[in-house]
Amino acid sequence: MLSKVVNLFKLKMIKKLISISSTVALFSLAFPVGAVPALNLPDAASDNAAVRYLGEKVDPATHELVQGYAIVHYRSANASARASKARAPKCYGFLANGAKWKSVEPWFVNPSNGRGLGGSYVLSNLASNVSKWEDATDGTLGNGGANVLGDGYFATGTLVADTVSPDNLNEVYFANVADPGAIAVTIVWGIFSGPTFNRKLVEWDQVYDDFDYDWSASGELGKMDFENIATHELGHSVGLADLYNTCTEETMYGYADYGETKKRDLNSGDVQGMNAMY
Ligand SMILES: [Zn+2]
Repeated sequence: MLSKVVNLFKLKMIKKLISISSTVALFSLAFPVGAVPALNLPDAASDNAAVRYLGEKVDPATHELVQGYAIVHYRSANASARASKARAPKCYGFLANGAKWKSVEPWFVNPSNGRGLGGSYVLSNLASNVSKWEDATDGTLGNGGANVLGDGYFATGTLVADTVSPDNLNEVYFANVADPGAIAVTIVWGIFSGPTFNRKLVEWDQVYDDFDYDWSASGELGKMDFENIATHELGHSVGLADLYNTCTEETMYGYADYGETKKRDLNSGDVQGMNAMY
C-alpha cells in the first residue's frame, strides 16, 4: 500500500514537471543563458569544505526524517601530480556505512547549458556512466550488475537542486554553482545515522557549473571533460565519498582539472567500494 502511494505521488510530480520528450522537442526548449538561478550552498563547516550538511527534513515520499548533504567537487591544478608511493590504502569510502539505494528510482536531466554540450550526449553519457557503477556492484567489470540508479529522462522544465529539503525527484542540470572553484555539486538525501541496516539513500540531485567552466565531450585542454566529472559525481549518487591525499587514480579522488579523463573509467578501489556497499 505504501509503495502504491509513493508511486502515485511520484507519478503526479513527474507528470507535473516532466515530459519525456523526443530529441527534436528538446532542442526547441533551450534556456537562455543565465535563466537558471545560481546554486547557493550553506557555508562550509570548519574542517571539511567539500561536504556541507543541509539539515534534517521530512522525506515527502515516506514521511521519514532524512538528512541532506551537498558534496562539492573542486578544481586543483595538482590533481594529477600527487601519486603516492605509500603502501596500498583502502581506496574507497562511504558517505556513511549502509547509506545506499534500496529502491530504484528514475532521474531527470535538463541538459541545457551555455557551453555547447549537446542534449542527447548529456543524457546518454550520464546513463552510460550510471551503468559503470552498476557494473561494479558484483566486483567484476564487464558483466553487468545490479540496477541501482534506474533510468534517466529528459526534463523540459526548470529543475531545482534541493538544498533545503528533498522533493522526491532526482534532478540533474547546469547552472552557476556559487562556490569559487566548484566544478559540480552532488546533493544526497537519506538516512545516514542510526542503525546501519536502517540507513538508506532517498534522493540525489546534481548541478554542473557552466558559468565558470567550459565543458567538453572529448577531454579538450582548458575544458572540463563531462564524462570525467559526471562519473565521479555519480559515485556520490550511489553513496561513495571523496578520497584525498592518496588514491589519486581512483574515480572518487576528490579533485579534478581541465582536460582530465582518467576518472571516466572506474579504478580498482572504486569497484571494491561499490562491491562492498551493494
Ligand atoms: Zn566528489
